Amino acid sequence: MGFGHNLRDFRIVRRNFLKPEIRRMKRLIQRGAVSPFYRRKFKPIKKLRVPDLETFSRKIPPFTLEELVEEKTASGDPYSLRWCEKKSPLLAFQLEYDTEPRLYLPLDRLALKGYAEALTRCWSLLGLARGDRVAIFDYGTSPVTYLASGSYTPYLGRGAAEALACTPICNDGVSNMSQRAVEILKTIRPRIFFLRSDCLQPFIHQADAAALRCSDYIGALVVTESEGALSRMEQSTFEKKLGVPIYRMLRIDVAMFLAVECPHCRLLHTWRDLYFVENRQDADEEIVDGAVRSPLLITNWFALSCPTLRYLSQIRGSLKAPGCPHGPHDQRIAI
Ligand SMILES: [Zn+2]
Repeated sequence: MGFGHNLRDFRIVRRNFLKPEIRRMKRLIQRGAVSPFYRRKFKPIKKLRVPDLETFSRKIPPFTLEELVEEKTASGDPYSLRWCEKKSPLLAFQLEYDTEPRLYLPLDRLALKGYAEALTRCWSLLGLARGDRVAIFDYGTSPVTYLASGSYTPYLGRGAAEALACTPICNDGVSNMSQRAVEILKTIRPRIFFLRSDCLQPFIHQADAAALRCSDYIGALVVTESEGALSRMEQSTFEKKLGVPIYRMLRIDVAMFLAVECPHCRLLHTWRDLYFVENRQDADEEIVDGAVRSPLLITNWFALSCPTLRYLSQIRGSLKAPGCPHGPHDQRIAI
């Protein structure tokens, strides 16, 4: 070990002196400032000097779905002027929000990669691993489906299935396809069955009609919807009825956000290198299951071409400290 080595080490330390989250934050603000949507939002801020996440939360104004709708109506831009690249996106999905006009989500390779990484971590937290079969009963425009496999989506490359060496089987997410969903379960016996929440009741009805005992065919059910979730009470009622664990997966599609309930601690895990999640402090708080819940704000670190800086979601939750053995550093959310 000569002096040269030490000097190089010293330089590396200096370069990393800015914490990764601060670097991510600065990069995202820079990207945001390129898009007309955020340029307008940033305009009233006198000095856009944001040295840390506390300042970020204080200075950067949140945005809502309604603002995106207004922007789309005024400008006619399908992405509400959030897209900040000169070149067109590789893919665009219509968002499932019931808005008029409809909103679209533009994606490039980097966004697809980060978003698929979030789904892969959700699958992994659910215990999915090499050789497992996974059934999905959801629309092709749901990230639960289109991020599952590179064979479903152009430009995706590796989906969650390829990353974990699992086999995905997909059924179209309309409720009158419940009969086929039951047949798929009987035939392939998936470890996990992902189901969109509005197909849950029709599926249960069909499973009853076919005298299907879910516990004979699947290990667990994961129920998903965009910006919505089963209540704890619904969850436990359905768990008793079906005889299998039910986990809730949270989708906030406009922010390219995914999180899933952990089988161990029963809180949703989220990852600080992908997202920054905040509780809105000044909002009316609500008590759910004996705990305070307020709206969640989502910042997405990986989608740099269509930035999400502090999206005010319709999901109420409360942030919990890390500490679950299934992901000791993961931030956790109770919903
Ligand atoms: Zn956990």
